[in-house]
Amino acid sequence: MVRLPVIAIIGRPNVGKSTLFNRLVGKKLALVDDRPGVTRDRREGEAHLFGLDFRVIDTAGYEDEDPKSLPGRMRQQTERAVAEADAALFLFDARAGITPLDEEIARWLRGTETPIILVGNKAEGKAGEAGLYESYGLGLGDPVPFSAEHGEGMADLFALLQPHVEREDEEEADEDEGGPLKLAIVGRPNAGKSTLINKMLGDDRLITGPEAGITRDSIAVPWEWQGRPVELIDTAGMRKRAKVQDKLEKLSVADGLRAVDFAEVVVLLLDATKGLEFQDLKIADHVIDEGRALVVAVNKWDVAEDRKALFEGIETALGEGLAQVRGVPLVSISAVTGKGIDQLMEAAFATRDAWSRRVTTGELNRWFRAAIERNPPPAPKGKRIKLRYMTQARTRPPSFVLFGTRVDQLPMSYQRYLLNGIRNELGFGAVPVRLTMRSPRNPYKDGKDDRQ
Ligand code: GDP
Repeated sequence: MVRLPVIAIIGRPNVGKSTLFNRLVGKKLALVDDRPGVTRDRREGEAHLFGLDFRVIDTAGYEDEDPKSLPGRMRQQTERAVAEADAALFLFDARAGITPLDEEIARWLRGTETPIILVGNKAEGKAGEAGLYESYGLGLGDPVPFSAEHGEGMADLFALLQPHVEREDEEEADEDEGGPLKLAIVGRPNAGKSTLINKMLGDDRLITGPEAGITRDSIAVPWEWQGRPVELIDTAGMRKRAKVQDKLEKLSVADGLRAVDFAEVVVLLLDATKGLEFQDLKIADHVIDEGRALVVAVNKWDVAEDRKALFEGIETALGEGLAQVRGVPLVSISAVTGKGIDQLMEAAFATRDAWSRRVTTGELNRWFRAAIERNPPPAPKGKRIKLRYMTQARTRPPSFVLFGTRVDQLPMSYQRYLLNGIRNELGFGAVPVRLTMRSPRNPYKDGKDDRQ
């Protein structure tokens, strides 16, 4: 059976946890795990929210306890539920405002890796406004105004839960981070691609390992660099072209580009005797558009002239020519002597790490709040764009989802500001990073939730 993602509902007594639980799980009491003695202090059930399926844990069982012994037991329950969950809904009573116990719970939650979604319950009408504002002081991000009783705010809740619930599929894909580095080498004809592949594999190397056919005309050639497994994606049969007569038939750029589909990291090979040309930038753009991690290598460094100026010139031209990424790793190599290949491989592995990186939602949103405080989003036509929350939905390439109101009006320049921040301040370096915008109401344009 597929393991469903787990969402915990936490909060002090009487904030409405059970009402929310019932709303999510529905009336199917048969599914509610309420066996005495086994799960006395919590209920579990299968929840359905606009097509999202998950398990929900309600930590409501301590409601009847003696108030004096409450915090200790509650802390245990809360921490256990949060540790087991993929995300937690922290409910408070927006009408009653923030109580010392709410503040204490927030303190328990501060160290956790589990994403916390702050939910201001009983927020129907205006009576909850003050409590919602107060809740910013908990340091857990923006609250979702909600009414479990009236079913208001369900669309917001859906939008915030969706990335955590749907992320499950991605996690399997993340597991092969430690697998062989899938590396493709692309570049214009004569840049030295065949020479480089043959140098890596050893000129008279006997192919012993299995060569996995990816498609009819592409193979993954196993190689090892400093004990680390690599698969060289050889789409255009470059490896076989060591023989002189094969070299007469020149391969087109497109032949090599097919390898990009199968690669994690792509090396764009430049020819030092030719410099960086427009076509190279087009190849680089293609690699980035495909979401692959890019490393640039200047080949034929052994015969390069005026090296310092050449290197700096290429660096500058790459910086100006590639709109989507800054600071792509650049190394100089010689496919003939083998010099620089180690640096190239180091850069390739490091780039794959960044490409596979996942930040916790807590870390991401701490950065996010500081970033929007430093430089608040604009207000087109006097209407404020409200940015609420960010989550990393995927890796390889890293992809982020930004939730807020009127986010579709967020200018490109501001999106770039956020993307640059993610790259520079959260350790994603020069890999392509994606950002999609979502308004909580988007999935239900016709929904009844017309707050905001
Ligand atoms: P491909 O079309 O990109 O596969 O390029 P090739 O590997 O066929 O290389 C084109 C030419 O450049 C050949 O004559 C190679 O010997 C030469 N070449 C490749 N790498 C180097 C290098 O690092 N230094 C020098 N001096 N020549 C190189």
